[in-house]
Amino acid sequence: MHDHRRLGRELELFDTDPLIGAGLPYWLPDGAAVRHALEEYVRTAERRAGYRHVYSPVLGKRELYEISGHWSHYSDDMFPPMRLGAEQVVLRPSLCPHHALIYRSRSHSYRELPLRMAELGGMYRSELSGVLGGLTRVRAIQLNDAHIFCTQDQVADEARGALEMIRRAYEALGITRARYRLSLPGPGGKYVAGPEMWRRSTALLTEVLDRSGLPYETAEGEAAFYGPKIDVQVADGAGRESTLSTVQVDFHQPERFDLHYIGADGAKHRPVMVHRSVVGSVERAVAHLIEQHGGAFPAWLAPVQLVILPVSEAELPDAEALARRCAGLDLRAEIAGPERGSLGARVREARLVPYQAVIGAREAAGGEVTLRLRDGRRLGPMPAADVLARIGALVGAHGTGLWDDAVPVKA
Ligand SMILES: [Zn+2]
Repeated sequence: MHDHRRLGRELELFDTDPLIGAGLPYWLPDGAAVRHALEEYVRTAERRAGYRHVYSPVLGKRELYEISGHWSHYSDDMFPPMRLGAEQVVLRPSLCPHHALIYRSRSHSYRELPLRMAELGGMYRSELSGVLGGLTRVRAIQLNDAHIFCTQDQVADEARGALEMIRRAYEALGITRARYRLSLPGPGGKYVAGPEMWRRSTALLTEVLDRSGLPYETAEGEAAFYGPKIDVQVADGAGRESTLSTVQVDFHQPERFDLHYIGADGAKHRPVMVHRSVVGSVERAVAHLIEQHGGAFPAWLAPVQLVILPVSEAELPDAEALARRCAGLDLRAEIAGPERGSLGARVREARLVPYQAVIGAREAAGGEVTLRLRDGRRLGPMPAADVLARIGALVGAHGTGLWDDAVPVKA
């Protein structure tokens, strides 16, 4: 496996500046293109699975986190509050309290449940500088988060649905080495009280995992402070494990925020909150993808999907016309002209780009390209329109294959 910190800088995906600070990376255009493709994939998958998206601010009053329990159970990981007149505001350590308030702001009937609320939102963690580095341990985090407000009877199905979204996303992303873990509370006082609540949520998640047929292990001391969770673990190049995706069952915060829905009997009932993240934070997800693929991303994620190689100056107008057609099809294309060296040198330079379209005199005359795939295969010459249509379809299907071997994966 590769080190994403070294490769990320070499490929100009992200960087840091001491004046911005440790643990606060910025994204360069190629890294932003990868991130954008990932975020779009997630939003589309969520829309198709019945989630509605919201936006909520990254700040909240200190009282909000006192109610949620973060203040007493999680403040070591939070930035110190900022004084604002008579108030104190806090950079949020999670999105859950905001989503609980959004749910509470309207009354809900049992007919609206399960209500699936999603947001790709910012949150903050006061990591010690010693553990910072690259994109894996950062202080400003963009989280692919969602909260499902549902009845107790719906929890298992919703947790199963979330696991299925994770499985499909990993297929599309080409993540092959992931381990499932049931994270339980351990000794010590960092967990909220309520033995019956812990027992019920642990039984639910155990049942979901057992019925999924996925191999998993259990780990004590890894639960969230408010409940147990299913964590999906990946390892980095140095073998360090971290959590990418998660599914959690929470009886605690609905209680704390006094959430309810009106049941079929006309009475108020308490919903359950299922917290779930398909790809975790975009920082950690992209770090893992860089390491897993060594920078050779699946075509739908690649910063440059097609590099256009005119053999000589004479084919430059054809290359430019092809680049314009790519832009019109939402394909990320770039021209590497003869000023950048011999054809062989340009092919080598573009070795991580999934598709390389060579245009010589013969191809230009016939509106064709000769296609080289990243894996070394050569195809064509073929009509340029056919090549673009094929690449567009493969990219749109979020497959990991490059050509006829491509297995389309539904988002
Ligand atoms: Zn949450």
